[in-house]
Amino acid sequence: MRLLLAMMKHETNTFSPVFTDLSRFSRAGGNEPDTGPAAIAAYRGTGTVTGAYIEIAECEGAQFDLAIAADAWPSGPVEDDAYEAMTAVILDAVQRGGWDGILLDLHGAMVTRSHEDGEGTLLARIRAIDAKTPIAVSYDMHANLYPEMVEHANVIAGYQTYPHIDMHGTGRRAGDALMRMIKGQAKPTTAWGNVPMLPHVMRQGTADEPNRSLQARCQAMEAEGALCASLFVGFPHADIANAGLSVVITTDNDLALAERWRDELLNIAWAQREAFVYQLEPLEQSVARAKAMTDSTNPGPVFLLDHYDNAASGGPMDTTRVLAEIMRQQLDNVAAFGIFDPQAVQQCIEAGIGATLTLSIGGKQKMPMCPEPSEPLQVTGRVKTLFDGKYRAKGPMAAGTQQDMGHAVVLDTGRVEIVLFSRHVEPFDVNTLLSVGIDPMQKRYVMLKSRIHWRAGMSHLAKAVVECAGVGVCTSDYSQHQFKRLRRPIYPLDPQVSR
Ligand SMILES: [Zn+2]
Repeated sequence: MRLLLAMMKHETNTFSPVFTDLSRFSRAGGNEPDTGPAAIAAYRGTGTVTGAYIEIAECEGAQFDLAIAADAWPSGPVEDDAYEAMTAVILDAVQRGGWDGILLDLHGAMVTRSHEDGEGTLLARIRAIDAKTPIAVSYDMHANLYPEMVEHANVIAGYQTYPHIDMHGTGRRAGDALMRMIKGQAKPTTAWGNVPMLPHVMRQGTADEPNRSLQARCQAMEAEGALCASLFVGFPHADIANAGLSVVITTDNDLALAERWRDELLNIAWAQREAFVYQLEPLEQSVARAKAMTDSTNPGPVFLLDHYDNAASGGPMDTTRVLAEIMRQQLDNVAAFGIFDPQAVQQCIEAGIGATLTLSIGGKQKMPMCPEPSEPLQVTGRVKTLFDGKYRAKGPMAAGTQQDMGHAVVLDTGRVEIVLFSRHVEPFDVNTLLSVGIDPMQKRYVMLKSRIHWRAGMSHLAKAVVECAGVGVCTSDYSQHQFKRLRRPIYPLDPQVSR
């Protein structure tokens, strides 16, 4: 058996000013994504979709190529030359021919400068070269589905957890179903559909209702015989027609059943649409509430989430509103991850360990699509730690993968240890903090620029959680987004919409 594997993942926040060139697709901090044997070495044995694909190929004794392993933190639209370079590597491999199956690890919410549907465009190009070879695709739960993303694939599986701790399991679900197809043991048949609703990201976690029950129902359908059942909550920070919630069901040659299960899931999600709406709390009130939660008998840690500005939704991670409020209200023994500011990092490196300096951090990224700018924050602190930025994720999310925050420092202001860093990374893993010498259990407060993914590695440490409304392109007030291409009407922007 000969299998072609490829990874090309990006969640595009069309409101983000963060530039998306080819170098961003190298998670290990290189100039471009890994290809061939280097890509296999980077992902073999990791808790990722591609890690699972490699495992399947090796278990089957298949000959396989991993054409490319391109994975970027979310950001603005993908530059055309980056997209063309990545797809060319995949299409060249398809062109070589002789494949029994193609296994793709895609995100599902990629927007390029020229294409609203980056994944569907890739699949259409593959099918133009090779109309027949069975294709399996794994998508992130935040995929915004388009017809070509579904129609040009035989098997589709989406993550069933958020935070995404089942990436490897999703790769197994997609890959195992494709193996059955290749061996003539199954005839995958797919139905998909969507409803006009934009679930709020802060309400999408699978520890919370209604998504817990929706994903549990997908798993039950698979136990009842679906090859793959997936409900995508969608990614709302994308001004594209098909942003929002959708469902894909793949059955073994039973279209009527696939359609029935699709409709069941869409009906439940639609009926629960109000539960996907998020209620905002004013920032000053959130921080004051957090301050009152700890004392000498309740030492925390309380986790404060600066959820308007996280890398995993395309935020530049340099807005300072929440950190400024934490400092203004004089919370004590705080760790903050963090502020993206390569310039400030360089100033600290030049000053050296132990030096005390006053500098202006964050607020440097212009955000034309954001109604409220973020000001730089003036801080005085001592340089406590210098770090080269490289660490491995402990898991359970993306276990074993190389992460890179770029050159980083910890600046200790006395009350707050602020991590300043030079490459975007979401603090989803406890090693994000441990690698810079911060033990969250020794802190009274931990501020993270994260929404849901931090739960993967740290929710078990939190004595309490306070969600803090800052500013940024991952705004939790969707009415701040100037949507032009999004299909309307859509809930909750248009509350009276019907299906
Ligand atoms: Zn996601």
